Amino acid sequence: MKEITAKLKAILPAERIHENEPMKLHTSFKIGGPADIYAEVATVDELKAVLRLMADTGAEHMLVGNGSNFLVSDEGYRGVMIRLGGDFDSISLEGSRITVGASKLLSGVSAFATENGLAGFEFASGIPGSIGGAIFMNAGAYGGEMKDVVKKVSLVSADGSQNFQCSGEEMGFGYRMSSVQATGAVVTEVVIELTQDDKEAIAERVKELAYKRNSKQPVQFPSAGSTFKRPVGGYAAALIEEAGLKGFTVGGAQVSEKHSGFVINIGDATCSDVIELMKAVRQKVYENSGIVLEPEVRIIGEEFEEFNC
Ligand SMILES: Cc1cc2nc3c(=O)[nH]c(=O)nc-3n(C[C@H](O)[C@H](O)[C@H](O)COP(=O)(O)OP(=O)(O)OC[C@H]3O[C@@H](n4cnc5c(N)ncnc54)[C@H](O)[C@@H]3O)c2cc1C
Repeated sequence: MKEITAKLKAILPAERIHENEPMKLHTSFKIGGPADIYAEVATVDELKAVLRLMADTGAEHMLVGNGSNFLVSDEGYRGVMIRLGGDFDSISLEGSRITVGASKLLSGVSAFATENGLAGFEFASGIPGSIGGAIFMNAGAYGGEMKDVVKKVSLVSADGSQNFQCSGEEMGFGYRMSSVQATGAVVTEVVIELTQDDKEAIAERVKELAYKRNSKQPVQFPSAGSTFKRPVGGYAAALIEEAGLKGFTVGGAQVSEKHSGFVINIGDATCSDVIELMKAVRQKVYENSGIVLEPEVRIIGEEFEEFNC
């Protein structure tokens, strides 16, 4: 990795390259050992150069957005975590279209939309991710999902060789799914289209959704949101509760008492605690209902690969 660091220094200022960076500082779960390198990238040209370097050297790498759907191994990550910032935090308005950089948080986009009297993004106001991560996951809540509002996505190919754009339809959006999960392309900018509405009415809807979220979800504990995807034929939270697992604890990881769909970090949980708990939950839910739960959280670490879907 010393060689990669040296080569990265020809692309990025040294203060944006961090070696052995604890990933627990960059994930909402507050879990995760060190990434060999954590590199902050501020422009499309830098991103392309970094991705080309990764392709030329075969170095392992991945994007991290706001780390709100990330569970990183206690051993950390043997490769380069790439974090977008700088130019990628831009936001601008043209008519009812908002153009937003990939690192901008959904809460910021929602506040901008509200200020400008644009409705349709309220669903995303309380999802604690970045626009890039939300496109990757086709994040959604309360009846809305990114798919409904995305008009155009700008990307850089996985090997850094080209920039290209896709329409919303071309993004292959499905339930917690988009085409970038398979292609490894990096989202750089997104255009969303909303509809004109009264500012006060939009603000009121955002407030109502925040109230719902705060009263139903264990937002005071570190977590990665819903741990498992919604299976066909049921809701993960209900299946977990029916299997008698509310409050089930392994080390510092617990099935939330407030919302069984969330695994929370009740204090110094390790990734191994969470994985052990997830495996037990999956087994007991299967025995109880015949339904196999699949993780929604992205699990980072070679030793857990068989558990990722
Ligand atoms: C309290 C809580 C509540 C939540 N509620 C919801 C909810 O209601 N609905 C919902 O859908 N999710 C929810 N989540 C999960 C999470 O916020 C979303 O999945 C979010 O979209 C992840 O965005 P992120 O920026 O944090 O991505 P990260 O967790 O950093 O990354 C997720 C994936 O996206 C990839 N990625 C990140 N940026 C880019 C990019 N620019 N280009 C390509 N790939 C990229 C990463 O490599 C990774 O594989 C919740 C999480 C928490 C902690």
